[in-house]
Parts: sequence; structure tokens; C-alpha cells
Amino acid sequence: ASNVRFSSSLMRNNAYINGKWVDSKSGNTFEVYNPSTQQLIGNVPDMTETDVQSAIETAYKTFYTWRDVTAKERSRILRNWYNLCVKHKDDLAKIVTIENGKPLSDAGNEVNYGNDFIAWYSEEARRIYGDIVSSPDPSKRILLMKQPIGVAGMITPWNFPNAMITRKAAAAIAAGCTVVLRPSEDTPFSALALCQLAEEAGIPPGVLNVVTSSRDHAGPIGKVLCESPLVSIISFTGSTAVGKILQNHCASSMKKTSMELGGNAPLIIFDSANVDAAIKGTMGAKFRCGGQTCVCPNRLLVQSGVYDEYVEKLTERVKEEMVIGDGLDKETTLGPLINTRAVDKVKSLVEDAKSKGATITTGGEPSDQGRHFYQATVISDVTNDMRCVQEEIFGPVAPIMKFETEEEAIALANTTTSGLAGYFYSENISQVWRMAEQLEYGIVGVNETLMSTVEAAFGGWKESGLGREGSKYGIEEYLEIKYVCMGGL
Ligand code: ADP
Repeated sequence: ASNVRFSSSLMRNNAYINGKWVDSKSGNTFEVYNPSTQQLIGNVPDMTETDVQSAIETAYKTFYTWRDVTAKERSRILRNWYNLCVKHKDDLAKIVTIENGKPLSDAGNEVNYGNDFIAWYSEEARRIYGDIVSSPDPSKRILLMKQPIGVAGMITPWNFPNAMITRKAAAAIAAGCTVVLRPSEDTPFSALALCQLAEEAGIPPGVLNVVTSSRDHAGPIGKVLCESPLVSIISFTGSTAVGKILQNHCASSMKKTSMELGGNAPLIIFDSANVDAAIKGTMGAKFRCGGQTCVCPNRLLVQSGVYDEYVEKLTERVKEEMVIGDGLDKETTLGPLINTRAVDKVKSLVEDAKSKGATITTGGEPSDQGRHFYQATVISDVTNDMRCVQEEIFGPVAPIMKFETEEEAIALANTTTSGLAGYFYSENISQVWRMAEQLEYGIVGVNETLMSTVEAAFGGWKESGLGREGSKYGIEEYLEIKYVCMGGL
């Protein structure tokens, strides 16, 4: 399967600005490779500051017509987009697998999840409510209106090349905003395929604009988006390091930001846990997308009474279930890492743990499948000074630490600057409540690790971010409140 060239009318090789498929003004392009096979997928425009500037101007102009389209009509058009994305979901999933590497079944789940955001926000478009508040003065009335904020600048990552686009763009478009989006240089094709379907769905020119560029121009383009007075909000998903750079750029224009950043998720298994359920939950969350999601458990904290059982069972399951390979092959359960930078990071984290006395119970080496593959790895005897529990691994490596008391587990879990997702397994109802209330995380899984769904609010505490995506709160990012005081009555 790895040698089959995929062709689909959804594979576009141009950027999409003002409803037109365009090149960079410089004429330059950059190459995008399949991380499994290292084969060239195609070239797309390597845009620069001038290109993004013209996209911003288009989006700004279009905002003044799009915001006045009725909510009912915005909803109808978004529903068309959703229907087309459902119709083409198999091609959309293949594009995800080809550019990201994740197994096709994972890619299919991502596309369903991504599509659901379009359906959800086509519904939420019609449920934007303001308030009329009792006035303390009989001659005045107090109205609190919600209005679209303006142009939304978006920067998205490669680990969910489809769903991170729809989660942001559908919310913004539903609210009446227009969008300038720069997808990751590793995965631009999913974003462009979505533009193709948006165009067919009747989303007017200038509402959704996608600017592609190589990594070299990511910084300059990001800076223009953040500093432009014509852009009203920046929505970013990616690393905390880049999020901080963008947040700094945004200060100059006091721009609103919505940030979905890195995590360092603990998964805590108490003596009271159903260990088999915990193993199942660990497998489902740890190795999804090769361990490259911001909610992947990064640290497995296991209480001493079930520690040996957990280490042994997890090691067995990993050996049995993880099949490394090209995501297009049906048997594959573990795809490649996205690029060589990612492989080097995982290697160095595992070497660090080994050198400090950890035990590799399975894996622990790059795989001979190809340059970007790393073995599914379980490490026991991990201590808190090891880099693999201090930094986000973003790879198929499961480090296990032993703890004795609940207080110790809470301290370990909360002593980090990250606060995105945290999980625990316990069958003790008082402990369940204590833990759910104590964990300093935006998303908490109790006896469950698969939680992402459009109905729920996704977002982090602390340095994991600002704002929420999905749920009824997601659309609020793209709305401003206006207090109108009616006087002289
Ligand atoms: P990762 O390391 O997982 O790729 P990043 O935070 O580096 O995560 O990347 C997320 C997105 O941010 C990608 O689209 C990337 O191209 C983009 N990006 C990287 N550096 C910058 C920057 N300095 N300014 C704006 N965007 C950036």
C-alpha cells in the first residue's frame, strides 16, 4: 500500500485566498513529504508576509458583508459544508494519513470528529444570545449584545491536520467572523481539501482564506497576523514555546488570543483501580497518533500495590498490539513520528531515562521500519528527575513511576506548569471526588481516557492555554460583548 500514489480532486496545490486558488507572489513553493514513505506528496506555495497581508485585507473587507448574513443562512451554508465533508470523508482520511502518518482508522476518527465541529457550529450559529438586564434607573434600559469580533487569524499544527482546522474555523464562521489560517508546513493538504469543500458548499469568497508556507516563513507570517490591526483574534494550537512568542506579538495590538498549548498529562492508577480497565485506557490514549497528541498521557503514576501488575500487563499488551508501519496498511496500529526532529527528541528522552537508571521493559530504540519510526516503548522505575516526565514526549513512550500515597500523587500531578488533561483510575467514590476536585487541569478523565467530543469544552489551565474550543463556549471566543444603554425613556 505504501507505494500507491493517491489521487483525488481534493488534493489542491495552491493556497486559497478570496475564493481563488493562488500561488505565492514570490512564485516559490515548498515540498511536503509522506512521513511513512519519505515520498514527495506535492508542492504548495511558500507564502510570505506580503501574501498574508493581502489575505488579511480580503478577510477584513469580507467581514463587513459576512457578519450581516443572517445566522440562519450561515447555519445553512455550514451544514452544506458538513454534508460534503461527510460525503468525502474517506478521501479526507486518506489525506490525513498520507501527510501525517497516523493509521487510517485513527484518521477516519479524526475526520468524523472534525466534521462534527462543522455540524455543531452550524447549530450553534443560531443560538447566540445576548441579555436584557434589569436597570437600576427607570429611564434607562440595559442590553448586552453579542457581535462577531472580526477577522480571526489561525495557526494550526500537524497532529490533527483536519480537526484543528474545523474546530477553529467552523466556530469563527458560525459567529460571523472571517478567517486567515496558516496550516502546519507538514500537513497543508488537509486544510486545502477543506477549502475545496467549503467553496463547493457556498462559503463566500474571502470568508475562509488559507495561506501555506514553509517553516522558514512561519515566524514572519505569525508575526504579521498577530500585529495586524485588521485582525481581532489569534487562535493557535501548538507548543507552549510558540504560543508564548505569539502571545507577546499580540500584546502590541492588545489582541484577544485563544491558545491550545502543550500538556504533561498524568494518568494515575490507584490501588483501588480496575487495573484491566486502566490498561485499556492507557493503550487507547497513550499510543493514539503515535503518542503525538497534547492530551496523550505523558506520565503513568502507579500506586505501589498495583505497580508490578500494571507494568507487566502494559508491557504485554504493547508487545501484542502495537504493529509499526505505514498508516495505509490495515494491520498498522502505530505510524511514524512526524519528522526527524521528533525522532531525535524521543531518542534523547529515552537515553536520558536509561542513563538515570530506568528500566526499558519493551522497545526503547528507533524502529528499522524507516527513518521516522520509533518502537512502542514502556519504561519502568522512572523518577521525577527524568526528562521524559518533565517534558512533553510526543512519541510512543510510556514512562511509569511508582507512588505510595494519594497526597504524593496529587503533588506529582499538580507540580507542573502544564494543565491540559489529567486522568485517574479509582473505584473508590470518595477518592474519585477528591481527585476530580484537586487536579489542576482543564480536562479530567475519571476511569476514562477518550474524552474529546464537540459537545465538551476543550482547553487547558496554566501554561497549557487560554480559552476553550468546542461546546457552547467555543463560539464565545469569536464574539464580543457590547453594552448598549437605552436612555431618556
Ligand atoms: P510542533 O513543534 O509540534 O510543530 P509548533 O508549536 O512548533 O509545534 O508548531 C505549531 C504550528 O505553529 C505549526 O503550524 C508551525 O509551523 C507554527 N509555528 C512554528 N513556529 C512559529 C512561529 N515562531 N510563529 C508562528 N507560527 C509558528
